[in-house]
Amino acid sequence: MITPEAKKTLTKQGYRVVGNHSVVKVCGWTGSMIRGDGGCYKLKFYGIQSHQCMQTSPSLSCANRCSFCWRGYKAPVSKDWKWEVDNPEMIINKSLKAHKNLLTGFGDNKNPNHTAHEQSKTVKHVALSLTGEPIIYPKINEMINNYHERGISTFLVTNAQYPDEIKKLTPVTQLYLSIDAPTKKLLKEIDNPLFEDYWERMIKSLENLKKKKERTAIRLTAIKDLNMCEPEKYADLIKIGNPDFIEVKGYMFIGASRERLEKSNMPLHEDVVEFSKELDKYLDDYEIASEHIRSRVVLFAKKKFKKEGEWHTWIDFDKFHELFKSGTEITTENYLKKTPTGPGLSGRGTKDRVDAKFRHKIQKY
Ligand code: SF4
Repeated sequence: MITPEAKKTLTKQGYRVVGNHSVVKVCGWTGSMIRGDGGCYKLKFYGIQSHQCMQTSPSLSCANRCSFCWRGYKAPVSKDWKWEVDNPEMIINKSLKAHKNLLTGFGDNKNPNHTAHEQSKTVKHVALSLTGEPIIYPKINEMINNYHERGISTFLVTNAQYPDEIKKLTPVTQLYLSIDAPTKKLLKEIDNPLFEDYWERMIKSLENLKKKKERTAIRLTAIKDLNMCEPEKYADLIKIGNPDFIEVKGYMFIGASRERLEKSNMPLHEDVVEFSKELDKYLDDYEIASEHIRSRVVLFAKKKFKKEGEWHTWIDFDKFHELFKSGTEITTENYLKKTPTGPGLSGRGTKDRVDAKFRHKIQKY
């Protein structure tokens, strides 16, 4: 899948290529957490320990060429898998090793959080969402189960182009579907899909998402002046997928997307909130549950996860692993955890104060 030249470029960009088709890169939030600068929004929303998270992908290839993606247009694209298939055990072992090596320098930082740095040596979560479409790796189910057997939780993000693979997918800790536009015409413009029947594939993917028993989420990447429109049509799509959570996340002007979009396409957090409030009007079963200013993201959760006035959006990871080991059916309700409140979750110092200030604002709605 990968040429020596492409491997060299990826390595320069901080990636480590594993085997024939997998990559690992340390997430900026993992570093931020080790520096004592706060974790990612998935810590605040779901309890992911950002310093113990490995960001990886078992496939460098994708069937879309999304305008907002940090991948360059030279990155491999394909509708089907056509490469030699690496063994999941090998990929996981080598990825964990590469991740650990990449983290070595973080402890030398002037002001590291030593406990977090020590803990970062034990990976507890894997985000299968770095680059490329993870679901097309033919041994994805074996890989997911292997992670779970090691006590590592899995988040997988798919581009909604492989409905059959979604159907066949073994339960992950949290399954994401990306919905990048409210209409067929706009989806083509934004995602540049390889499949002719990209819209039908997305609808079928949403239908299959609805049948999943584990935690599911739909992610909307909000691009200013491009797809922050027609909230009622987004709501119609969301209702087909019936996810447990919805994330409305502002586009970030990074990587190769800078060649395709403008900095002005990056919405402010306030823009994301305004758009979320519009969307909220069409989603009776959901409520805005949280937000993370640094990531410009708003979380919607099903109202039923608010029990006696308190949100339960966090994941009980011990319970999840217990369910996996015992072979008990994995259902969202079975591994929910109360969402803690108060400062300290998304940063420290001024960053917390900013978050607290904003929380007041959002609580008005
Ligand atoms: S969950 Fe995502 S954003 Fe958070 S630390 Fe892991 S890879 Fe980074």
